[in-house]
Amino acid sequence: MVDKIQLLPDHVANQIAAGEVVQRPSSVVKELIENAIDAQSTTITLIVKDAGKTLIQITDNGIGMSTTDARLCFERHATSKIRKAEDLFNLHTKGFRGEALASIAAIAHVELKTKQADDELGTHITIEGSKVLAQEPAVLPQGTTILVKNLFYNIPARRNFLKSNTVEMRHIIDEFHRVALAHPDVEFNLTHNDNSLFKLPSTNLRQRIIHIFGKKTDEKLVPVSEETPIVKISGFALKPEYGKKSRGEQFFFVNKRFIRNSYLHHAVVAAYEGLIKNDVHPGYFIFLEVQPESIDINIHPTKTEVKFEDEHAIYAMLRASIKHSLGQFNIAPVLDFQHQKEFDTPYDYSKKSTVTPPAINVDRNFNPFQNEPKPVSKFDFSNTGKFRTQTANWEALYTATDSLEKEAENKEATPDLGLYPKTDENSVNRSLQFQNKYILAPLKSGLMLVHQNYAHQRILYEELLKNITVKEAISQQLLFPLNLHFSRPDMEVLQKVREQLENVGFIFSEFAEEQVSIVGIPVMLVESQIATLLEELINDIKEDIPEEGFQLNDMLAKSMALNLAVKTGISLNNTEQEDMINRLFACKEPSISPTKKPTFKIISLDEFDKKFI
Ligand code: ADP
Ligand code: MG
Repeated sequence: MVDKIQLLPDHVANQIAAGEVVQRPSSVVKELIENAIDAQSTTITLIVKDAGKTLIQITDNGIGMSTTDARLCFERHATSKIRKAEDLFNLHTKGFRGEALASIAAIAHVELKTKQADDELGTHITIEGSKVLAQEPAVLPQGTTILVKNLFYNIPARRNFLKSNTVEMRHIIDEFHRVALAHPDVEFNLTHNDNSLFKLPSTNLRQRIIHIFGKKTDEKLVPVSEETPIVKISGFALKPEYGKKSRGEQFFFVNKRFIRNSYLHHAVVAAYEGLIKNDVHPGYFIFLEVQPESIDINIHPTKTEVKFEDEHAIYAMLRASIKHSLGQFNIAPVLDFQHQKEFDTPYDYSKKSTVTPPAINVDRNFNPFQNEPKPVSKFDFSNTGKFRTQTANWEALYTATDSLEKEAENKEATPDLGLYPKTDENSVNRSLQFQNKYILAPLKSGLMLVHQNYAHQRILYEELLKNITVKEAISQQLLFPLNLHFSRPDMEVLQKVREQLENVGFIFSEFAEEQVSIVGIPVMLVESQIATLLEELINDIKEDIPEEGFQLNDMLAKSMALNLAVKTGISLNNTEQEDMINRLFACKEPSISPTKKPTFKIISLDEFDKKFI
C-alpha cells in the first residue's frame, strides 16, 4: 500500500490561507492598519498606488519589532497578541490569529522596515512569495513601515478578478474610514497616486466625523450616550431629516472594532420610527463597549460579525437611547414628506396653475430619435393640441378605438361607470391610470398595460444617454447658484463624471474641495431634485462602477433615469399618461426598462374573450 497524504509546504499552505484573509487590496489595508493600531501607534500614514494593486505602503510610529520578531512575524500563527486559549475571551487587540502577514507575504512582494525604541538599529526584510530574499540591519526611525507591492502577482486568476480602480479604491477608503472613526485620537493620512485624500489630525469623535464626511455633517449630528452595566453606548445619530435613500453612513463599532449586525441595525431603525419614511435610511456612528468575554468575534474570518451574549438587552437599550437623543436634540421640524413628493416628480403638476415658473425658452421636449425638435416642454402638459400632432406611428394602434368611442356616444343611457372619464365634451380619453401605477390603453388587438415607473425610466435613460454622448443638452440657469457640500472622496467621484454631467446640462461655477456651486441644471430637472440626484449618483458610482467609456456613461444615464423617473403611486392626468406612452414608443427599445424590467404588456382580445366563454 502506498501512503498518499503529505503535509503541504508552508508557502502553499500560506497561499491557501491568503485566500481567506486577503480578498482584495482593501483587506491588506485593513490588516496592516490594525497591526499599526495594535502596536500603539499615534500616527499612521497610508500610501496607495493604483487602488492598492501596485503598492500599499503603511508607516507607523508604534512599538516596532525586534530583529527576531521581524523575521517571525511572517510565519503562520505567529502572533504576540495571545498566548493561550483563554486569552481569546479577553481580547484587547484587533489581531490575534497571526495569519495576516504570513498570508500577505505569500501573495505579494513585501518589504518590512522596523525598529523598536530602545534598539540602535532596525531591521529591513525583503520577502516574496513567502521566501525571504534579504534581511539586513538598517538605520530607521522608531516604528514600522510595510510595503506590499504587486498584490496577487503569483495568482493571476485573483489579480484578474479585481474590480476597477474606482471600486477597489472605494473599498480601501471604506476600511480606512472604519479604523479612522474607531480611533479619532490617532492621526491618519491617506494618499492615492500622489493625491492626498485624507489628513486626519488626532482629535475627538465629532471632529473626526466632520473631517471625514465634510463640515456640513456637524449640524446633522445628535449625540447618543447611555451607560448600563451590560453596555456603554456612545456616538452620534444623524437627524432624521438627513436620512438618505441609499444606505449612507451607518457604522457600528464594538470595543472599537467595526462590525455589521442587522439585528442592532434594526434597533436603530426602530428608534427612527415615525420620524423617517420607510425607504429612507438613517445615518449613525454608534460605539458599543462591552466586556470582551461577553462577545464572540470569532465567528467570521473577516471579523465584521459579532455575537453578543445579551443581544436582546442591548437591542432595547440601543433603541431607547437613540430615541431619547432624537427626541431631545431634534428641534428642527420633521419633514413633511407628503409635501416633498410634489417636488420629487415633475409629472405631478396638479397645482400647475398656481405656479409661475420663470419663463425660459428651452427645448424641453427634444426627442433624440426625431429630426425635428419639438417646441413643447416635456413636463408642460398645458398644450394638449400639440400633443396629438406629436404622436408617433404608435397612434395607428389607437384607430380601432374610434369605433369604441362612437359606441360609447351611442349609449348615452347606460350609467357612467367612471372607467372612461371625459376631460371635455368632445374627446374620450384613450388611456386610464390604474392604481397610480399602470396606464391602461385600448389597442386594436387588446389592452396595453404600461408600467409608469419602468416606462419613464426607459424614456429618460435614452434621453440622458443621448445627451451624455452627443452633448446637446440644454441647461436652465438657476436664479441663485446652488451650493452643495460633499465629502472629499465624494467630490473626487463627482470630478470623475464632471464632463458627463456637463453634457447632460449641468453648469458648475465652482468645483472646490468639499463643495460644488451649480449655476445651471438640465431642463428635465427641478432644483429641489439636484441634491438627492447627485448623492444617489455618487453612491451608485461608488458601488460598482466601470472606469470610463461607454459603460460609465451608461451607468450614469441609468442612475439618473432611475432616480428621476416618475414613481408608482403618483397620479397622472390623461395628457401625462398619453405623453408617456408616446414618448415610450419613440424610444429605441421601448419594451424594457434600463434595469431589464418589462415596460408594458399587452393582453390580447383573445385572452379577454376566453374569460367569457
Ligand atoms: P496578528 O495581528 O493576528 O497577531 P499578524 O500576522 O497581523 O498577526 O502580525 C503578526 C505579528 O507581527 C503581530 O502579532 C505583531 O507582533 C507583529 N506586528 C505586525 N505588524 C506590526 C507593526 N506595525 N508594529 C509592530 N509589530 C507588528
Ligand atoms: Mg494583524
